Amino acid sequence: MEKYSELASLIKTWGNQLGFQQVGITDTDLEEHEKHLSSWLLNGYAADMEYMSKHGEKRTKPEMLLPGTIRIISARMDYLNRNAQTKKTLRSKSKAYVAQYAMGRDYHKVIRARLNQLSLRINDYIEAQGTQDFTARAFSDSAPVLEKGIAEKAGLGWIGKNTLILNENAGSWFFLGEIYTNIPLPIDKDAAVNRCGTCTACIDVCPTKAIVAPYQLDSRKCISYHTIENRGVIPVSIREKMGNRIFGCDDCQTVCPWNRYARPTEELDFKPRNNFDAALLLSLFKWTKSEFLKNTEGSAIRRTGYDGWLRNIGIALGNADYDDRIVEALKSKLQGASNMVKEHLNWAINRQVEKSSI
Ligand code: SF4
Repeated sequence: MEKYSELASLIKTWGNQLGFQQVGITDTDLEEHEKHLSSWLLNGYAADMEYMSKHGEKRTKPEMLLPGTIRIISARMDYLNRNAQTKKTLRSKSKAYVAQYAMGRDYHKVIRARLNQLSLRINDYIEAQGTQDFTARAFSDSAPVLEKGIAEKAGLGWIGKNTLILNENAGSWFFLGEIYTNIPLPIDKDAAVNRCGTCTACIDVCPTKAIVAPYQLDSRKCISYHTIENRGVIPVSIREKMGNRIFGCDDCQTVCPWNRYARPTEELDFKPRNNFDAALLLSLFKWTKSEFLKNTEGSAIRRTGYDGWLRNIGIALGNADYDDRIVEALKSKLQGASNMVKEHLNWAINRQVEKSSI
């Protein structure tokens, strides 16, 4: 109907005004993506992320999450840091590498707040028309939502061999958010063509070979999983390969040729906090628990918890060049640490001692 076509076009304009670089609309048929998710779970590639399976069909049947949902608005917000020196930081063994997405304010908060503003504008329009009850709920990686499948269907890009959404004009450095709604908006039917072609750069570069086949990521091998989601021991086979990555890993994005087209963000909220784009490992490791909580307020980094923080930086310090001050710092955190953290710190001390005698 004409009024919904007008509304769909307004939604895209409002989305742009609210800081989204692209907005698409799709229906709720996620059958193809459901099959991929099922086989990924069956293969054990979700590691111990039980939340990926515990919601059952809610993730693949949007109307089960929000009754009445027939359309999904999918939106993209870029986060590339203008001054990012990804490769240089990875080479500086005394510095901490933090994934670009986590350097600034927690994206969940930014994206959901903007989507709620978009919902309000839609609501006002619907009310002014006096036609239909409007229901809507905004998500940003905050509920069982199959966001990459939805974004692909809505025309925001294709799912690449690195399992991220890629856009031919914007690369992959962006967040996704969704609005589920009961409004029968016209859907965007122009799905993006998969342009990975014969490229395998992300598969080849992955330090732990976590992309076990095109479009198949085994979280049990993934540095992002271990440094962010894993609450326990990080396997020894992963530790050396982590290098100085203390929260996340961007290698499969950094190498992707489509990221030549990524544009830096203008969002002040995504500017690096606490010098996270160039911080020294030793400075971050010295934080007390209360400093960690204070300095990561409103940041996605909090997710790893203080134990995870010490564990991750401890490993990175073990991987750094030998330095007396590193050994001292590692020893100083042993007292009062949990057994899990102690085991990693002792591993790191041994690595430093081995290097001192070379
Ligand atoms: S690096 Fe190559 S194969 Fe991997 S996602 Fe990018 S284009 Fe696709």
